[in-house]
Amino acid sequence: MIINVHAHLDRKELYSDKYWEQVADGLAKRLSLSKEITMEKIVKPFSTSKKYHAEGFVEVLDKLGVDKAIITAMDFGLSIAGEPKWSIEEINRWIASQAEEYSDKLVALCAADPRRGDRAIKLLEKAVLEWDMKGVKMHPTTGFYPDNPEFFPFYEKCVELDVPLHSHTAALTPLLVESKYANPIYLDSVAVNFPELKIIMIHFGGLSWTRKCTEIMCSRPNIYTEISTHQINALTMPQQWLTNLRGFLDTPTMFGAPLSDKIMFGSDWPYLEYAMKEDVWIDWIKNIPEEGKKYGLKFEEREISKILGVNAKKILKL
Ligand SMILES: [Zn+2]
Repeated sequence: MIINVHAHLDRKELYSDKYWEQVADGLAKRLSLSKEITMEKIVKPFSTSKKYHAEGFVEVLDKLGVDKAIITAMDFGLSIAGEPKWSIEEINRWIASQAEEYSDKLVALCAADPRRGDRAIKLLEKAVLEWDMKGVKMHPTTGFYPDNPEFFPFYEKCVELDVPLHSHTAALTPLLVESKYANPIYLDSVAVNFPELKIIMIHFGGLSWTRKCTEIMCSRPNIYTEISTHQINALTMPQQWLTNLRGFLDTPTMFGAPLSDKIMFGSDWPYLEYAMKEDVWIDWIKNIPEEGKKYGLKFEEREISKILGVNAKKILKL
């Protein structure tokens, strides 16, 4: 069973023009290309091609034998990118309707910024109760620390609706947003205040916060993670990545499930396709027991099955 717990659909209306400019500019600088090229070759297809609607994504999932995937947008309206033409309600409604069309394959998350206050709470309620969305995703890098008590009513609503909170925890992004807010330690504070709330640390802390995520998961029974963006680490430093993974899987937890029950597969499709294609990433994970042998590391098939889908099914009730 394969479940991808982190993917996106895309279309122009989900983000502001300034956002798309930022992406093109950010990628141009990182990839040493001109902005015209990144705009034309990378950004325009994301914003205009139906390949990035449910239809295109499900085709990819079917081809690769992926059973289910979680799709979402991002609420970037309060970042310096500014509000898109579509309201945050319209954006989420579109994501939900895309998932509805392929309800056996796609599960939708509501994208919401808790700084929207009552509006975010109402949106979440509607998203879960009327649009069948299965949780919420937030992006602290747009300018907020997750442990701000002003957001507690928002988290209370998640608990009341019995849906998980997915929150970004990595420095990696081509956008003009601030990484400091993504530090997973602030989610630890949320977990303490809301022991009933399931929290998913998206991206497993990127590169530098992975150990911190591990430590937090060891002591908090209600925090979990997913491994999108780790394509880049696996690709560029396989030995170190696998050695770390072995170490994380072997780390004893103080309370709750062992770490091997807390790590889920994700890819952030389609944003990291430039680094590693979806099929290569899935094969990479499947091949970990073989690859590990090269470095004297032993991985059980059972551990890989858990990462690929068994954990997500259980944790997210999919
Ligand atoms: Zn993402």
